[in-house]
Amino acid sequence: MKQNFDKLMLNELEGAQGKRLLLHSCCAPCSSHCLSELAGKIQTTVFYYNPNLDCREEYEKRKSEQQRFLRETGLAGFLDVDYCAEEYAAAVIGLENEREGGARCAVCFRLRLERTAREAKAGGYDYFATTLTVSPLKNAQLINEIGFAVAEKVGVKYLPSDFKKRGGYLHSVRLSEEYGLYRQDYCGCAFSKLAREGQKLSAFWEKLGLLPSVKTRAEEVWKGCGAELSALPLEAWRNLPYEEGAAALKGALGQDEDGMKLFAAQSLQALEAKREYAARGIPEDVFFATMAFLSRFANEAFERSGRPAWTWGWWFPRQLALREFRLGALEFELLEGENGEKGRISVHIPAGADLTEGAVDSSFAAARAFLQAHFPAYEGTPFVCSSWMLSPALQEILPETSHVRRFGARFEVVKWEEDSPAFRDWIFPEAKDASQEDLPETTSLQRAVKRYLLAGGKLGWAEGILK
Ligand code: SF4
Repeated sequence: MKQNFDKLMLNELEGAQGKRLLLHSCCAPCSSHCLSELAGKIQTTVFYYNPNLDCREEYEKRKSEQQRFLRETGLAGFLDVDYCAEEYAAAVIGLENEREGGARCAVCFRLRLERTAREAKAGGYDYFATTLTVSPLKNAQLINEIGFAVAEKVGVKYLPSDFKKRGGYLHSVRLSEEYGLYRQDYCGCAFSKLAREGQKLSAFWEKLGLLPSVKTRAEEVWKGCGAELSALPLEAWRNLPYEEGAAALKGALGQDEDGMKLFAAQSLQALEAKREYAARGIPEDVFFATMAFLSRFANEAFERSGRPAWTWGWWFPRQLALREFRLGALEFELLEGENGEKGRISVHIPAGADLTEGAVDSSFAAARAFLQAHFPAYEGTPFVCSSWMLSPALQEILPETSHVRRFGARFEVVKWEEDSPAFRDWIFPEAKDASQEDLPETTSLQRAVKRYLLAGGKLGWAEGILK
């Protein structure tokens, strides 16, 4: 039968001043409301026992926040035990695939409550209780049933609760903000962390506009090897020199025929990069525009071949390392100078970019403002571009109104590789290896270039500096 545990707690606390309570706490944010609720009603000591946490780093982080909160508020004493992950691991054997809120969680609750009860008994406390009922995601009925069962087994009184009642959860959020407490976004164990990462990745892919078939494949890959991927030192590799980081990742991933394991791993790295964007004060819309590189090329591969594939992982370390940004129509890559020379900003033109006069002007203006705000060392460095669009031949064969021609004319060409065939990948992507006679003529650009090539002209590839 469902009971009102909040009411039971309030009844029990009447006249409990002077009694002692050992309160199990999972983290400072959850404890904040519970302790303020208990203040003045009972003498409380927080017991920090959480062997369920996925790693020592997380354990120590939550513990030190708990201690800081207690120091700053003086709401309770503090007691803890060493991080003992083996106790949790042994308790949940066989329950690894349970969903959050299922049988694994019941075992996890019991483990923590039973240890708290034993400590309470040994320490001569009158009651034991837990902060776990403040979470709207946790089953308070189940937690309280376990609490009463443990109390009977160990022989110490259990203080029932439903701390989320009477606005308790929202109050904990407010207090966490007020005290600047670290609020983790997963329950605690490696399974919950993995599930949370999976949810974040799905939302990220959705936001980037990944095609449904590609997204489904990416989610399948994540389900199959998410645990393996999140155990990798992805953050450290994100900050290595591009080739080194990409090689480390590829080596660790092993067999990856369609590249989608790499896609999932780099998506996870992108979420790590998001934290760095926030720390540097770079707006979120720049993050999503930049990371749309993932969906642009993955979607394009699917549209071309009908199968999900990721072949652009070799370039993506630039975006992951916060060296390349999409600002409006164009992408800008920050290149360091060599041998004491000044750096450069390499301009990249994404496929399908809006190359109208106004869009290009505002993209350069956005880049200048962005550099000034976030990378002042690059202020005033030259913009360079290496592209088929800068080929001097295009100034001859395209009409004056052509956006491509106008874009090319913004640069002073310093190098022209007339014989480079690389332009074919971009102008004739569906027939880049065809003979000149068989090149498609679908667009006006294709028709003009084909005519020019058949007449013996050379397009090539050129490099220039923004005038
Ligand atoms: S999801 Fe939370 S309550 Fe459930 S097993 Fe993991 S840490 Fe324990």
